[in-house]
Amino acid sequence: MIHERFFSVMAFVLGACIGSFLNVCIYRLPLNLSINQPRRSFCPSCKTQIPWHQNLPLVSWLLLRGRCADCGARIAFRYFLVELLTALFFLVIWKTFPWQIAIAYWAFIALVIAATFIDFEHFIIPDEITIGGTIAGLLASLAVPQLMNTDRRLIALIISAASAALGYALLWLVLEAGKLVFGKKRIRLDKPTAFTWTRHGDDADFIVGDEKSLWSDFFAREKDQLLLHCSTVTFVDREFSDVILRFHYNRVQVGEDSFELDQLDVITGIANEIEIPREAMGRGDLKFLACIGAFLGWRAVLFAIFAGSLYGSAVGLVTLILGKRVWSLKLPFGPYLALGAITWMFCGDSVLGWYRSMLIP
Ligand SMILES: [Zn+2]
Repeated sequence: MIHERFFSVMAFVLGACIGSFLNVCIYRLPLNLSINQPRRSFCPSCKTQIPWHQNLPLVSWLLLRGRCADCGARIAFRYFLVELLTALFFLVIWKTFPWQIAIAYWAFIALVIAATFIDFEHFIIPDEITIGGTIAGLLASLAVPQLMNTDRRLIALIISAASAALGYALLWLVLEAGKLVFGKKRIRLDKPTAFTWTRHGDDADFIVGDEKSLWSDFFAREKDQLLLHCSTVTFVDREFSDVILRFHYNRVQVGEDSFELDQLDVITGIANEIEIPREAMGRGDLKFLACIGAFLGWRAVLFAIFAGSLYGSAVGLVTLILGKRVWSLKLPFGPYLALGAITWMFCGDSVLGWYRSMLIP
């Protein structure tokens, strides 16, 4: 069928264009830059505006071989990847679902892709995406009640709102429980171990034994604290023994004294125990799961938590086996929730069927 093929091509092209717009959101939203001012895209390196013929989704990146035509700076592969991913998802969604549902799912997948890439880079999911997405999900359910497996608009809206609330509440519970159990990760070192903290510029190297980490990797939120139990510490001509260093991202407290990290160059000492802040989930994830509920319903909420945790543990396990940076690793939960939601979108029915067949042999 000619026209079917035409629509498929259109879905792919539309997806690539939306992906190009998502790249703008991914770059600008976390920096609080406006997404429509300036209207034209600009090179992140030399700030030159990019003319439309160098801003064609997918094609331009390939033709320019991932470089800015003006200054030759590398344009991250992410730009191409986001456009390609969005295009492919738009195509597959179009092929898989009735057109009304497909259009709603297009909106949803665009939100999910933006959320995922922003979360990976910045460890936040902006409200524009989560709260805006929840509202979009409510409206979509009102317009396409089939999203909530019903044909009555009002019922669909109620289910959608209840699912969003369930998503928020459930993850809030998990988060609070998690704080009790995993709020801090304690690492007791086998033997007293030498450490050094060396500042360079805005960041610092933190070396414990022979494990080296980047300072900024430990701190996701302003309130995060890293505690170092030391038998001895030396910095700015002062020596302390048997103290707990209480690090914030910008300062360190020793007892009553507080020192700006900007003013320090080197801290050395012997540590016995480290407590690192590790809250795998931020508040953004709660709102993100609400958005997933508003678009996909309450079953998707349960499934996304379950599948997301599985994916997260699997990836955590692999990095644990492959990598050395075990305890310094921090993983955002948002992308795993997203992956769980996508799995549900395409395979939810088969999962339900399989589950039923388990219950009723
Ligand atoms: Zn440039």
